[in-house]
Amino acid sequence: MIDRYEIERKLARVLSKDLRVELDKLLNYLGDPPNFANVPYEYWQNGWKDIQADVEPVLMEAFLESAEEVMLRFEFGVDWDAVNTDAANWARVHTESVLSDLFRKRYDFVGENVARYFEEGWSISDLARRLRVWYDPVRAEMIAITETTRAVVEGERFVIAQLEKESDNKMIPVWSTANDERVCLICGERHGKEITDGIYPPAHPRCRCVVVYRLPKPKERAR
Ligand SMILES: [Zn+2]
Repeated sequence: MIDRYEIERKLARVLSKDLRVELDKLLNYLGDPPNFANVPYEYWQNGWKDIQADVEPVLMEAFLESAEEVMLRFEFGVDWDAVNTDAANWARVHTESVLSDLFRKRYDFVGENVARYFEEGWSISDLARRLRVWYDPVRAEMIAITETTRAVVEGERFVIAQLEKESDNKMIPVWSTANDERVCLICGERHGKEITDGIYPPAHPRCRCVVVYRLPKPKERAR
């Protein structure tokens, strides 16, 4: 069975290592006293590609394991080459989107904090401490949880879509909150309800919700 916590841990580990490296790199670029213009624009544009190499394979693996699990659950075979291709494409596109977005947000955040360094008479270690909030293990863990959820959900959806196509039947996706101490409060409303609006987990950062698929009842098949 897929061990999502293991995937989360793996992802959180590489992300916190990589984010720490990024913070050092950034502080180096900024210098002392910090000058935002010292950070090459190229860094904001493409700096995330160093992290991509670590994150993408983990997300791809999560997608594949999840696809395999749903395939076994419904005793349904799919073209495994197609699953692999889709997993690779999804992991690449999605990793790029998450990381480039991260760097875009860091750009504003770092710019604002360098301005405050001068306005408020911070020391360089005050600045480093402020920046660390966005580069620390808590942040890495949050991204890891959210993106593991997404990889698992997307892997399942791929196989389910194939199954629906071949059987000419619609499966019923039902939202299910994580049933442990980390139960998702924000998604509580959706728990146990059929997904009809096209919104799938994760619904927010740190969302650990899952989708349970059930076969349509005979009367529902007519729809
Ligand atoms: Zn949730």
